[in-house]
Formats: sequence, C-alpha cells, structure tokens
Amino acid sequence: MPQQQLLPDIIGNTPLLYLRRVSELTGCHIYGKAEFMNPGGSVKDRTALGIVRAAQRSGELQPGGVIVEGTAGNTGIGLTLVANALGYECVIVAPQNASQEKIQHLEMLGAELLLVPSVPYSDSHHYIHTAERVARGRAKEEPNGAVWARQFDNPANLQIHYATTGVEIWDQTEGAVDGFICAVGTGGTLAGVAAALRERNPGVKIGLADPMGSSLYHYFNSGELRAEGESIAEGIGVSFVPGNLHGVEVDFSCQVDDDDALPHIFELLKDEGISVGGSAGINIAGAVAMAQDMGPGHTIVTILCDSGSRYHSKLFNPEFLWKHKLPYPQWMAN
Ligand code: PMP
Repeated sequence: MPQQQLLPDIIGNTPLLYLRRVSELTGCHIYGKAEFMNPGGSVKDRTALGIVRAAQRSGELQPGGVIVEGTAGNTGIGLTLVANALGYECVIVAPQNASQEKIQHLEMLGAELLLVPSVPYSDSHHYIHTAERVARGRAKEEPNGAVWARQFDNPANLQIHYATTGVEIWDQTEGAVDGFICAVGTGGTLAGVAAALRERNPGVKIGLADPMGSSLYHYFNSGELRAEGESIAEGIGVSFVPGNLHGVEVDFSCQVDDDDALPHIFELLKDEGISVGGSAGINIAGAVAMAQDMGPGHTIVTILCDSGSRYHSKLFNPEFLWKHKLPYPQWMAN
C-alpha cells in the first residue's frame, strides 16, 4: 500500500542546504533551511498549520468555520491551503504593496481577499488591525464562527517552530549548530527555533538580522524602538515587539542593508542554482555577519523563507531595482 500523505503531512521536514559560496567566503559552514520547498512555498506554511491545529484543539475553530488573518501574503497562502485541505474558509487582509505574485497566488487558491492601503502600524487601518476588526465582525455573522489567526502573538506560531523547525535544524546538523540567525516578521521562527536549540545546547548563539526600516536592532541594543532607512524585503521588519518575542534575548544582532542582501540573492541563484526571496537575502547577509563575528570553523544556520519566483516583478525586475537605487547584476539587465 503506498503512503497516503495529505497536505498537512508534507509541511516541514525541509532540506538543509549547504551554502557553498558564503561558507567559503567566511570559513564557516553556513546552511539555509529550504523553506521555499513547503507546499505553499514558504516558511509560513508551518505557522498556518500550527495555528489551525491549535484552534481545532481548543475548540475555537468549528467545522466549516472561517479563519481571518492580516498578512503580507505568505501566511495567507499557507492558511488558505491548510483551510482548503481541512474544510475551512479563509479571509485574508493584505497590504496593497504586497507583491503582485503573492496576491495572484492568493486569488488562485480561492482566498477571500481584502486589500487595504499600506499604512504604518500605528494607523488603525493597518492590515493587522483591519484583520482583527474583520474577524470580530465575521465571528458574529458566520454560521460556523470565525477565528482571528493573530500570528504576531499566537503562541501556536512559535510552538510549531519550536516543535518542528528547531528540532529539524538540530537533527540535520547532528547537534553541531553553533549559531542560528534570521530576520523577524512575527518572530515565530526566531523565538521557536531559539527555544528548541537553546534547550539542547544552552551555548548556541542566536542572532537577529534586521532589515532597514525595522525597529528591532535598536530595541535589542538599547531598548529603544527606533528605525532608519527602508527595505524592499517583504514579510520582515517591525515597528513593535511582537508577542512571540517577549522575553527572547539574542546574542548577536546586525542591521542589513538591501544593498548587501541583494547580491547574495543574485549570486546564490547564478552560482548555486537556488532561487530565494528578499528576506532570505537579508538572512544570508546576517549569517555572513554572524560568521565573521564568531570566526572561522563554526556552523551557522539561517532560513531561506521563500522563493525568488514570488518576487519576479520586484527583485528580478531591473527597472524596479533601478528606480529604488538598488544594485542588479549585468546578466539581469541583458
Ligand atoms: N520571510 C518572509 C518572506 C515571510 O513572509 C515571513 C513571515 N512574515 C518571514 C520571513 C518572517 O518569519 P516570522 O514571521 O516567523 O518572523
């Protein structure tokens, strides 16, 4: 009898890719967790499954119920796939500046999509606040109820990374991991992986790679939420401390400019055949900075959150990059 795997069974257990060029560059062993290989194409499939399973267990999510979430796209894609597979509906509230590719993907999957203006978090019309209002409204109207996934402070988000991503990294490196670093969107990945690794080796170093425009670098260094600059990377960078990060400490942090992250994306694609999105570029640059800080011979792991194909119109569009005064390789311009 062949194995009968269903969608939730094929989320996670992603390969750990050896990143040859940056390993050679730093004298460390740098690995990237190939999260773009999840069925929905991103690390957020894990979060989606974790949140839905927890809501099923608590009884908050009833059969045929509606799941509402505010997301720049990837969590929405993961939630819609999981909802389709398990018999729920999804309402996704996304900012208008989310990549065209993610919006099209969400439409294709059949999500009910609400696009709202891209405004700062402090504005009550921000997509996260809108999602909360929509969830409250739908909970009253829907015959089977509605839940707000609230990935920024739902403990199920970091718990799934603690139970899966972190354990996989430990097992795949055979416990040899010295450092883990990634950027923060909701903080679920960073907090969950940090907890799993520190439980197994209290000496493991945990790092934050913060894109420009995000406030966490200063928060971790001086306690002050302050940001400068901006980034085209989607899904990462926050101006508040997500609940997932409360009580989490980091051993290392760095700010990463798009100018430093983009060449990693292009070179990884050209030299190693691996296509990743903007946040993975920030993560790789962060891993290089951490490797340089720790010195040669260390094993450092980061996250390849999603695929470059999700950003064709931005990351791989020389016109877009030129307009944003960002670097692009010669081969892209031809
Ligand atoms: N990269 C991308 C492309 C994402 O969509 C997200 C999720 N917002 C992240 C990184 C960050 O992951 P987390 O929410 O676990 O911090």
